[in-house]
Amino acid sequence: MSTQIDHLLNETRRFSPPDGFAAQAVGSADLYARAAEDREGFWADQARELHWHTPFTEVLDWSTPPFARWFGDGELNVAYNCLDRHVEAGHGDRVALLWEGEPGDERAITYSELTAEVSRLANVLEGLGVGEGDRVAIYLPMIPEAVAAMLAVARIGAIHSVVFGGFSADSLRSRIDDAGAKVVITADGGYRKGKVSALKPAVDLALADRNGSGVQESVEHVIVVRRGGNDVDWTPGRDLWWHDVVPAASPAHTARAFPAETPLFILYTSGTTGKPKGILHTSGGYLTQAAFTNRVVHDIHPETDVYWCTADVGWITGHTYVTYGPLANGATQVLYEGTPDAPHPGRWWEIIQKYGVTVFYTAPTAIRSFMKIGRQVPQGFDLSSLRVLGSVGEPINPEAWVWYRDIIGAERTPIVDTWWQTETGAMMISALPGVTETKPGAAQVALPGITIDVVDDAGEHVGTGNGGLLVVTEPWPSMLRGIWGDPERFVETYWEKFADRGFYFAGDGARLDEDGDIWLLGRVDDVMNVSGHRLSTAEIESALVAHEATAEAAVVGASDETTGQAVVAFVILKQSYLDRHSAEGLATTLRAWVGEQIGPIARPRDIYIVGELPKTRSGKIMRRLLRDVAEGREVGDTTTLADTMVMSTIQAKITTK
Ligand code: ATP
Ligand code: MG
Repeated sequence: MSTQIDHLLNETRRFSPPDGFAAQAVGSADLYARAAEDREGFWADQARELHWHTPFTEVLDWSTPPFARWFGDGELNVAYNCLDRHVEAGHGDRVALLWEGEPGDERAITYSELTAEVSRLANVLEGLGVGEGDRVAIYLPMIPEAVAAMLAVARIGAIHSVVFGGFSADSLRSRIDDAGAKVVITADGGYRKGKVSALKPAVDLALADRNGSGVQESVEHVIVVRRGGNDVDWTPGRDLWWHDVVPAASPAHTARAFPAETPLFILYTSGTTGKPKGILHTSGGYLTQAAFTNRVVHDIHPETDVYWCTADVGWITGHTYVTYGPLANGATQVLYEGTPDAPHPGRWWEIIQKYGVTVFYTAPTAIRSFMKIGRQVPQGFDLSSLRVLGSVGEPINPEAWVWYRDIIGAERTPIVDTWWQTETGAMMISALPGVTETKPGAAQVALPGITIDVVDDAGEHVGTGNGGLLVVTEPWPSMLRGIWGDPERFVETYWEKFADRGFYFAGDGARLDEDGDIWLLGRVDDVMNVSGHRLSTAEIESALVAHEATAEAAVVGASDETTGQAVVAFVILKQSYLDRHSAEGLATTLRAWVGEQIGPIARPRDIYIVGELPKTRSGKIMRRLLRDVAEGREVGDTTTLADTMVMSTIQAKITTK
């Protein structure tokens, strides 16, 4: 069967960089030329922006693919690069973290203070017998201690496994066991949606009742931050309060040098398509690409910018663009504990106004939820400090992109749509602000030093104007080094498909437009086959979102007797539309609309108006569950779903139709 994906959506809007932006931009068109001329030399230059205790002489070792080694004979300390180095350069008084708690409490932490805190915790961990290669699980709310914990683990050459604070005891347990964690760092609780959500009980539960499970308990200690003030059970000898042990420890800690390929962290993927995979990242190459991409794509000027990435540290975006990238660059950033709508729907915009945020990085799911509530909320705040806006996590519909630029970015700021994955470690495809003429809905170009192609099943380049499979054709510094404990799954999942060519298979569909720019079309598993045409979820969803009534849409292919598969759409409406119109007859209107916008073949057979869509905890739409509903099957594994009620609500809606 052909892997060509039909292209239907026609988006012709173009936006030039704002006047004067290029003159001050960190990135420039030269970067592409330099990288094209000598790719490894280019990455070596980027790596030399870091501090190496022992400089590397070798850049890339690809002698045993798919196992890469970058800067293999060099030695560095990741935490030293994110902390001490800035203090030693005279920037100790610069604020590293502008933390805002959900209830409105705040802390500003300088690079000197963060260095001291991380050093203390590093001493505590070493005192507990944690050393090079040991695993530490981190299960915390978005508080400064979460960032400090990651850096303290990195500082001593241990490996962190951050588990999102919203995950259950079961998910935590399987991640602790998979990694064999020796220590867990947690909190009593954290604030979410106006109340304390407890964390420590989940840790207790995850560590309790092992009898008969066959798993040897690996955890020796649990360090607990007091944040929620909620009552917690205590296991003497095992449990330690952060405030008892960390302040008492010495703030002096020598950051030892570790080889560049020292494992830095294990992180599980979002679980959008199935069981999460424990992705392993190492030190030198990861930090190089994290710092470089943050600097050029977010255009970071550490002396003046106030940067804010809204991702939780439980996701890869929080690892690379909250902890490692910005701190390696010596930037000042906002860290916010809570949800976007607590205690009021304008909370994020209030934070941007309060701290004068200049660079803002968030996900399409958040943008679409703001579109649903309406523009009057952000318009009630002064957002004029913003100068770069970024998007990550899913394809951003052109309409959401334009809304983001117009309403949040005052019709002025460049938008960077950044494609990457837990596995890629850092951004791979994105416009450069001030350099690239942007196209709403397109991630556009491979970053300098990154080689991407769109190919057919045989690995042949599809050519401009065509759709196919997204691949990375050459190794990159921040690439995953494996799946923890499962080298076979690593080879099978990413490398087997194009083994003869040595391409990394990303699992996403993409299209090259006439200029050769890349448009992400959604996951290959989600591509629909209607009467022999392969249709992309992203394009039909974007057409639906382009209608004034629609805030968000998810489409899936459901088996159909006549067409093989039929398009089934689930649509969330905008509040502003519902205030003025009834939803009566809207399904018919929207069906016709899609037909006009992109062609009759894409017209959904069924359209369901729903209040919510099933999403992972990182906010991605889980289409496989909607497919189950659309085909009348029992809904599959929902363990990575953020809100398990959503599926029953949707199902009820459909059966009563
Ligand atoms: P799992 O692999 O367990 O199913 P996941 O793929 O959702 O989970 P992540 O690594 O968090 O886990 O997400 C990476 C995926 O997110 C990409 O493969 C792609 O499908 C999507 N994605 C991320 N950024 C973009 C973007 N800018 N445009 C389009 N898609 C994106
Ligand atoms: Mg994935």
